[in-house]
Amino acid sequence: MSACIFCEIVAGKIPATVVLETEHVLAFRDISPQAPTHVLVIPREHHDNLTSLVTHNPDLAAKVFTAASDAAVLEGLEGGYRVVSNIGDDGGQTVDHMHLHVLGGRSLTWPPG
Ligand code: AMP
Repeated sequence: MSACIFCEIVAGKIPATVVLETEHVLAFRDISPQAPTHVLVIPREHHDNLTSLVTHNPDLAAKVFTAASDAAVLEGLEGGYRVVSNIGDDGGQTVDHMHLHVLGGRSLTWPPG
């Protein structure tokens, strides 16, 4: 099985700037931020994408979404923010470990590309 970069972050083998952690979830800054605040929220347990996570562990999916909201509060995004999960090739997913992007700190446009 090929190495999963986010599993390596969970294991502490790759450094990350962690903004929130719980027993089940980790939130850390994206290495290539697309907004002044760009945090990734992941389950510690590996799931390839949102559909896999919801199918196999819906309670954990709820914890990931809760952590995304908590991270937004911690980051002071009271002006608003966006939560995105890219899934599969058409969704533009590049890391196959489920994650939510929490983006904020500027006015975000819609629709995305
Ligand atoms: P996605 O393209 O939706 O799968 O998002 C993957 C995200 O992971 C991208 O925004 C990358 O910039 C980010 N990323 C990749 N490697 C790292 C890393 N080592 N630390 C933090 N963020 C990363």
